[in-house]
This record gives sequence, structure tokens and C-alpha cells, in this order.
Amino acid sequence: MSETLFCTRFAPSPSGALHLGHAYAAWFCAEVARREGGIWRLRIEDIDHTRCRAEYEAAILDDLRWLSLQWQGAVWRQSERLQAYSAALAELKAQELIYPCTCTRREVAAQSPGDSPDGPRYAGTCRRGPKGSAESPSWRLHMRRALERLREPLYYYDRQRGWTRAEPARFGDVVLARRDIGTAYHLAVVVDDAAQGIQQVVRGEDLRAATDLHRLLQYLLNLPVPQYQFHALVMAENGRTKLSKRQGAQSLAHYRQEGWQPQALIELARRQAQIPRLNDQTG
Ligand code: GLU
Ligand code: ZN
Repeated sequence: MSETLFCTRFAPSPSGALHLGHAYAAWFCAEVARREGGIWRLRIEDIDHTRCRAEYEAAILDDLRWLSLQWQGAVWRQSERLQAYSAALAELKAQELIYPCTCTRREVAAQSPGDSPDGPRYAGTCRRGPKGSAESPSWRLHMRRALERLREPLYYYDRQRGWTRAEPARFGDVVLARRDIGTAYHLAVVVDDAAQGIQQVVRGEDLRAATDLHRLLQYLLNLPVPQYQFHALVMAENGRTKLSKRQGAQSLAHYRQEGWQPQALIELARRQAQIPRLNDQTG
């Protein structure tokens, strides 16, 4: 094996049972790896302990095995990688690119000047120092300062569209460490894609906007930049949002109980997957 063996990843969050959308995403990832003659890794994105559960993780592994979708190497769990995320955060802190924020969710929403792909954009209230002394603040990226550090515009390579300009500014001062878990999806994902040697990130169209921010974080943290490929989404019945548990998606376990065979289920997911017209939203 050469060290440049093509490597991608499937990175589900164990916050519920897998449904057709996940079956499609996992199949797509495995298919990209197969076509490239490479491998894919499995990463369990379980930093949010308020939503993730061990039994969902066990069910994910079981569903993937049932689908005959085989990852390579050890399963990574983000909950076991918190030190790596703190180190990345410390590096941004040393560069004076993050600051502590003690605002409540409600305050952020009330003062927001508009939307970001991640929810209400932050008004910058704590940029000059947090009000009061909260024991564990969240940490926000100082977006203006971060953009000033750039020596050139940022691009990433999208396998379908080619070189694509990353426009992270609209995220504003995004949270990179939640107060309750000490990190956030955007930080963890760029740290782990680098640590796992992921050459191509395969992810849903709904994470296209987030990629702009990830490209900025890679620049600031001096991380290698993978290529990207975005796949279609299995949509909810309304045709406008992606299928989710909240939208009443049936679990793969349910289909299995009804006697579906793996190949037929993947075919069903493929038929239902489509390139959505989403408002920029992150998953
Ligand atoms: N964990 C994310 C999800 O379940 C995907 C992460 C990614 O592809 O960056 O939607
Ligand atoms: Zn604040």
C-alpha cells in the first residue's frame, strides 16, 4: 500500500437511527472509494452528548454491515478526540482569532443583524470582552480579523464544479467551541479530516455552504486541504427539506423488519436522491 492511497470518509452523527438518506450517503461514499481504488473511513461525529447515544452508534455499525458497506481501519469517535480540538482552539487563541462569548442563544437571536448559514449571525457583542464572567464561555471566530490574515482568496476543488471560491464571511463570528462541549462541528471536522488523511471529503449538498468556512479554518490552522464532492440528498415528502427523523423518516431497521434486502434498499435510496434547492443551511 502506498501512503497516497485514496481515502474518503463517512461521518454520521449517532443522534438517531439511520434512514434512507444515510444509506444513500454511505453507499455514495463507498462507491467513490471503490471507483478511485481507495478506501473510506468511518467517523462517528458524536461530540454533541446532548443528542448522541451509544445505542445509535451500535445501530449504525450494524446497519452498515447489513448493507455490506465496509469501512477500513478503526472507527473514529469524535468524543475521544476532544484534546485535538482543544489544541486547535488554543492555536487560534494564540493567533488572537477567537474570543469568549457569554451571550445566551436568545440574546444572539435578538441582536442578530441577519442570518448566516449556521443560524442567526452574531452581532459581535462580546468582541471587546465578555460581559460578566461566565465560567465556561463559548468561543467565537473573529471573522474580520481572520479574513484580514488571508494573503489571497481561498479556493477548494469541487469534483463536479472544479475550483470554487470559498466565501466564509457570511458566517460572521461563528461558534468554534460550544460552552457545553468545548468544541463545535466546524472545528472538529477540519481537524479530523486532516488527522485521518482524508483526500476527498464526500458529503451532502446541504454542507456545501459550510465548506467555505472549513476552507478558512484549514488556512488558519495550516491544515492540508482535501478535495470535495457533494452528493444528492434524499428529500422529505415535502420535497423541500432533506429527509430526517423529524420529517418522519423510517429507520433502516424498519425496512429490514419489513423484509427489504440491502441492494433493493440502496436502489430505493438512489431513486429518491436528488440535488436539492436548499437555502444555504448546514447539516
Ligand atoms: N456529521 C455530519 C452529518 O451527519 C456530516 C459531516 C461532514 O460530512 O462533514 O451530517
Ligand atoms: Zn457574546
